[in-house]
Parts: sequence; C-alpha cells; structure tokens
Amino acid sequence: MLDKKHIKYFKKILPVDFVLSEEGDCWAYGYDNSKMHVMPECVLFADSKAQIKDIVRYCFENTIPITTRGRGTGNTGGSVPIENSVVLSLEKMNKIIDIDISNRLAVVQPGVINKTLQDELQKENFFWGPDPSSQDYSTIGGNIANNSAGPRAIKYGTPRDNILGLEFISGTGEIHKTGVKTSKGVVGLDLTRLFVGSEGVLGILSEATLKILPLNNSVKTFEITFETLKSASDMIIMLMTQPITPYKLEFVDEQSVKLINSIKKNHFEINTKSAVLLEIDGDVDFIDIQSKKLLKLMQSKEHKKITIAENKTEIAELWKARKSLSPALKEIGGYKINEDIAVPISNLTRLLNNLSAISKKYGVRIVNFGHAGNGNIHVNLIFDTIKEKNSENSKNCLEEIFDSVLDLNGTISGEHGIGIIKKSFLEKEVDKITLDLMNNIKKQFDPKKILNPNKSI
Ligand SMILES: Cc1cc2nc3c(=O)[nH]c(=O)nc-3n(C[C@H](O)[C@H](O)[C@H](O)COP(=O)(O)OP(=O)(O)OC[C@H]3O[C@@H](n4cnc5c(N)ncnc54)[C@H](O)[C@@H]3O)c2cc1C
Repeated sequence: MLDKKHIKYFKKILPVDFVLSEEGDCWAYGYDNSKMHVMPECVLFADSKAQIKDIVRYCFENTIPITTRGRGTGNTGGSVPIENSVVLSLEKMNKIIDIDISNRLAVVQPGVINKTLQDELQKENFFWGPDPSSQDYSTIGGNIANNSAGPRAIKYGTPRDNILGLEFISGTGEIHKTGVKTSKGVVGLDLTRLFVGSEGVLGILSEATLKILPLNNSVKTFEITFETLKSASDMIIMLMTQPITPYKLEFVDEQSVKLINSIKKNHFEINTKSAVLLEIDGDVDFIDIQSKKLLKLMQSKEHKKITIAENKTEIAELWKARKSLSPALKEIGGYKINEDIAVPISNLTRLLNNLSAISKKYGVRIVNFGHAGNGNIHVNLIFDTIKEKNSENSKNCLEEIFDSVLDLNGTISGEHGIGIIKKSFLEKEVDKITLDLMNNIKKQFDPKKILNPNKSI
C-alpha cells in the first residue's frame, strides 16, 4: 500500500484535480491494450516540466516507483503500474509549442496526440513521419518511448529517424536537454536516440523537437495478388531494390486473404495465396511517370493480378480491405496473441514457411500480415479458449516462433516494445553482457530504479 502521507503531499503541491486516489477514478489508468490491469493507488497529472520535476524529486527521495503514461494504447503493458507506485499521466501536457517551417521542426509537449500534430502540420503542407495506426489516440511521448511507427516508416522512418532533440526528467528529478535544432550536429553522445524506444525506463519526456517534412501532393496505390508466397516475397524484394522507394508496402498471407474475403465478400479472387498493397507518393507532375515505370517492373515479375487505384474512392477501397483485418480478427472471436516481429526482407519467405510449419506442428491457427517493406510482420496466434491461449503448447509455439525469427537475423519486436509482456523473452535476443551494460546505463539515469521498474530491460 502506498502510504497516505505521500498522497497528502501530492495534494499539497499539485492542483486539486491533478491527484486521483479513489478506486473509481484510478481504474481507467491501470491498463493498456495488453489487456493487463493493475489498480493504481494514486494517479498524478502534470502540465509543466516543473511539476514533473517536483513529483520525481519527491518519489526519488521516498523511493516511490513511477509509471509514466501517455494514452495507454501500448500493447505490452508499458503503462500498466506496479503495486505501491504512482501513475503519472501526461495527457494534460498537450501543447504544440512551435511549428517552425523554415527550419523543418516542431516543438511539442509529450501529451500531444499524434493526429492533432499531423492536422496542424497539414495546414502548412507538412507532416511528421511516424504514423502508427493508433495515431488518433496515441501521444507523441508514447510514440517516442516505444519508437512507434506505421506503414510509411518504410520511406519516412520511425521516431528515431524523425527527432532532433529532447528534454526529459531523469530518475533523480533533474531536467536534461539533448540534441540540436539543426539538421546536423555532433556534439557529445547521442542521448536523444538512446532515449527513443527506451519505454520510459530512462526518464520522463517533457518536450520533443521533431523533424518535420513537406507533404507530397499525390499518391498512387496498387494491389498485387499472387498464387504463391514466394512470388509475393520476390515482388517485395524487387520493389525494395529499385529506386522509387515505396511510401507504404503492406503484405497479407493466405489466412488473411480468407479473413478479408469473409468481411469484404470476394475482394480477392479464388486461389489468391497472398497480396501486397503498394503506395507511392510524389509530386503530381511526376507520379504518373513513376507509376508507369513501377507497373512495367511489376508486370515482369510473377503475379496474379495488379489493380491500380486511380482516385480517392478507389484508394480508400483498397485500404479498406487491408484495414478490415483487425476487426475481422476480433469477429472470429477466441483469444489472440499478437506479435510484431521483424526480419530482413530477404528472409521473409523462409520466415513465413517456418510459421506455416510451426502452425501445423502445434495445431495453432496463425494469421500473418504487416509492413512488408520493413519485414515487420504481425503474427497473430488464434485460440478458441483462454485455457489454450495460456497452455504450455501455446508457450512452446511462441518460443519456436521467436527462435525462428532470431535464426533469420530478425528481432522479436519491430514496434510494440518489450514492456512486461515480452520481458521473459528479452534474453533470447540481447546477450547477458550487453544487457548488463544496458542496466548500468539505466542506473546512471535512474539510480533508485523508480522509473517504470520491471519493464523493458
Ligand atoms: C488500435 C491500435 C493500433 C496500434 N497501431 C500501432 C502501430 O501501427 N504501430 C506501433 O508502433 N504501435 C501501434 N500500437 C501501439 C501503441 O499505440 C503505441 O505503442 C503508442 O506509441 C503508445 O502511445 P501512448 O500514448 O498510448 O503510450 P502509452 O501506452 O501510455 O505508453 C507507452 C510506453 O511509453 C511510456 N511513456 C509514455 N509517455 C512517456 C513520456 N512522456 N516519457 C517517458 N515515457 C513515456 C510508457 O511508460 C509506456 O512504457 C497500436 C495500438 C492500438 C491500440
């Protein structure tokens, strides 16, 4: 139990509505999209770095763990609290401080919703690269802490590629500034990129300087279907080795094709074993030339059918099929484990063949789709009952999937992070001596280990 005197102290230093301690008020701050839930004993809000500093300083002095929270859309329990701790929600720190078009940068507080920033930038014909599918709800702070990105990461990168500098409060309550406001800079160690993807264990982000880019004014979308997995994989490799970098390059496997057809009747023809959705962006004057070049290249490779979307309605129709997958997965019911592994794209065929063999071996239905250009595949294991989901068979199946991914030079998480859910698998990927180094780095930032303890590293 968190001592009541601490709650009393927070009520003294923060505005009255910035401290929640009643169960009914705190409940909603105890879970994320991992579906784990731990009842927070106290939820704090801050709307300035000075308030974060005061909270952390007190927690440091009294060794109280802090779980930092954006909007709780994470998939791995990163913002789920531990017992005897406080949750610090940054949803009120939601100001866009500056949009500086000339210098291609934006300065934001961590609680700004990704979509809110994109909408503001769009008014200036600019955008911020990272576009996780949760962008209508997730915060820039959460995006940075998890290095979250979406389909256009293939061309425009993840937060790690789209950040210039940060301000954060370390575990002792000190404010640190990292990075630069210029597109070049090489002074000191690169703490900015160390912080990105650190899942809240190194500090609490209070401000970020983001690299922004001008928007292209036109896109062209293609859907390509295949009768074999290998021809899909060969097409993906071809698309990644020619000079017109795809804006988005998505993949669905045979199980996904069936699921899409069950929702969007006969979207794919019979005997379709996989499909690729390709989008390119560019200037309206050049995009037709580029798409003709691409079409010729694609026609020279084995495929079943190529559909080109010419206008907004046709583009939306093609994306509707890809986006129907998540609701379709929900509709089939049962219990799901959703992994987000990534492998070098030259190993995609081998990975998918291995997944098919693992699925047969363990009798587990596996549906695969994802961001093919990054080799980042969402591997969905489907179970009829919760007992099956939590069984030894399911654990062994997952272990074998991760072993296969690592054998293929891949990673066990392309975008969701480790959090609590994947902690037991961390040592599969990171060797002991490197993990010790990471823990020593954490100690420098957070000597009492009060920031997001027992998460990530
Ligand atoms: C429908 C849906 C679609 C999704 N699609 C994608 C996708 O396409 N790509 C993708 O990568 N992810 C996706 N996700 C996962 C999730 O949305 C992202 O991880 C997102 O970046 C989390 O943001 P959040 O604001 O909800 O953070 P939270 O879930 O609240 O927190 C995530 C982590 O960040 C830490 N954190 C949050 N704010 C700060 C801060 N200011 N300082 C330090 N640490 C902080 C938390 O402690 C936690 O460890 C999806 C989730 C859902 C529910």
